[in-house]
Amino acid sequence: MMKILGIDIGGTKSIAGVADQHGTLIAHNRILTPNAHGPTINLQNILLAADEVVQQAGGGISAIGIGCGGPLDRKTGTLHKVANLPGWEGLCLTQIFSERFQAPAYLDNDATAAAIGEARFGAGAEVDDFVYLTVSTGIGGGIIIGGEPYRGFGDNAGEIGHITIIPEGPACNCGDRGCLETLCSGTAIARIAAGGLSDNPQSMLNNLDTPITAESVAKAASRGDGFAVKVWSDAMYHLGLGVANVVNVLNPRLVIIGGGVAKAGDMLFEPVTRTVQKRAMKALADDVKIIPAANGDLAGLMGAIAVALSDYLS
Ligand SMILES: [Zn+2]
Repeated sequence: MMKILGIDIGGTKSIAGVADQHGTLIAHNRILTPNAHGPTINLQNILLAADEVVQQAGGGISAIGIGCGGPLDRKTGTLHKVANLPGWEGLCLTQIFSERFQAPAYLDNDATAAAIGEARFGAGAEVDDFVYLTVSTGIGGGIIIGGEPYRGFGDNAGEIGHITIIPEGPACNCGDRGCLETLCSGTAIARIAAGGLSDNPQSMLNNLDTPITAESVAKAASRGDGFAVKVWSDAMYHLGLGVANVVNVLNPRLVIIGGGVAKAGDMLFEPVTRTVQKRAMKALADDVKIIPAANGDLAGLMGAIAVALSDYLS
């Protein structure tokens, strides 16, 4: 049995896991890696989490796949200035993991990786043209065209989170303004809700014991809290506009949406589908189905494993 180590690095949490060549998980380990901890501590903790799963799987790793936010240099395994991983610029992740586990390591954009994972093990199997969108701390995109990942000239295609939706909108980590992810990522939904609380003293979001998250906004909205409904539906409208733009450019058969915010289920898929039906060109809107990731919140991990498999075996 071939054992593949997958690492999914995020700005809030990260996952290490070991699977066989069919994508069956042997062990996995999810840890919190908030950006506030800084890259050194987070990377150390990710390596420790990886040590643990490799040990649980009995060692003998053949290849390592690493998915993380872009932009990055796939050829050298090094990160550029990643919007959602401040301070990680210049780190050569493939070298760090390859030395630790004595196996070849491959780096890819986390959303492209998740798309490859959905193509190999998930909702995109047998579909040649689809787009994967992760809506979590930020928003990432992965594009599969003709059954193959589309990476673009510099391997950084698919930055759907940075499509401009409101030209003079909120400042984005990428340096621009009004990007899709400043309006409807989990971080954005929480930020927008927190910013409007003082003007909405009647909202139940004022009574939380913990900081507001996209999940708490979704929950309050589902209970009919007027302010939460407004924040949530604006976010879903913007997400729908972003997806409509992508549909107009690529004419995909599927748009697969994963990431923490997609856990809201119908509260996300219904309004986003409605906006796409209204705003994308009709022929293209008719072709597309917008569905949840089959790999759920392991989409990034399964993606990293799929990247290792395809790069190692090619
Ligand atoms: Zn941006």
